[in-house]
Amino acid sequence: MSTASLNNCFTTSFALATKNAHSKKTHCVFAKLNSPSSPPRLIRNQPVFAAPAPFITPTLREEMGKDYEAAIAGLKNLLKEKGDLEAVAAAKIDQITAELKTADGNVGFDPVERLKNGFVHFKKEKYEKNPALYGELAKGQSPKFMVFACSDSRVCPSHVLDFQPGEAFVVRNVANIVPPFDQTKYAGVGSAVEYAVLHLKVEYIVVIGHSACGGIKGLMTFPDEGPHSTDFIEDWVKIAKPAKKKVIAESNGAPLGVQCTQCEKEAVNVSLANLLTYPFVRDGLVNKTLGLKGGYYDFVNGSFELWGLDFGLSSSLNV
Ligand SMILES: [Zn+2]
Repeated sequence: MSTASLNNCFTTSFALATKNAHSKKTHCVFAKLNSPSSPPRLIRNQPVFAAPAPFITPTLREEMGKDYEAAIAGLKNLLKEKGDLEAVAAAKIDQITAELKTADGNVGFDPVERLKNGFVHFKKEKYEKNPALYGELAKGQSPKFMVFACSDSRVCPSHVLDFQPGEAFVVRNVANIVPPFDQTKYAGVGSAVEYAVLHLKVEYIVVIGHSACGGIKGLMTFPDEGPHSTDFIEDWVKIAKPAKKKVIAESNGAPLGVQCTQCEKEAVNVSLANLLTYPFVRDGLVNKTLGLKGGYYDFVNGSFELWGLDFGLSSSLNV
């Protein structure tokens, strides 16, 4: 099959997938989000693009970005500017931590204790109880899935889909976006896709969107023109701008919450399309050693949808 016919084939089935993804969502996902009184829930009820005030001045950040040693020197200068030597600053942090522990008689959050307890629990309940599994994993990994999921703390795919260690090679980023093939701008994602497809030989790449995604809400609400208010986020989520355009064009004045839900799914389709720009992904599809799936986890309603590029051939799932 030539590249041209391959692309046509994908365009057609991609459109089908998109159409079907839309037709399915009406009964499954929109139930609660249709109401204007229930906008996408964020952990913090404030605009996504209200970027935190820079901790370090822009000038200093520029200096710090040159190399590792310059970054350390810059941090030392910053501490001096604030009148704190490193040792004093460290002591202050300890003091603040101690105060947190004793304020109001409540024990404060101790990150070291939390991490230690977490690992002790994992080792006792899982690692030591599954010597066969962890013995195999010590020799290597052979995951069948590569998964793209959002960095959102509520959507860990291992949790939601019950992946066991060794089952899924996971990339998480803001709004679960797969950028197009670009060796300069997106080497991080590109190297993960290359490693998963060519070396691990995963059988499926699954891109999973989710309800109330802050990254997608940002994409839908930040201005298309003018200066950015963030260093990275706007540039990153703009990769999914074709999804925003499509949703707005088809919105018919729907509330922002509804548009965001549509965009959360449409952005998955943009990522699936972007995966087709990676030559080794195209080769895997042509050789039938690789499949692509779009997914959507709705943690407001507790549902999960799955669809494929080749929608007419692959089964869909609504749970
Ligand atoms: Zn998200």
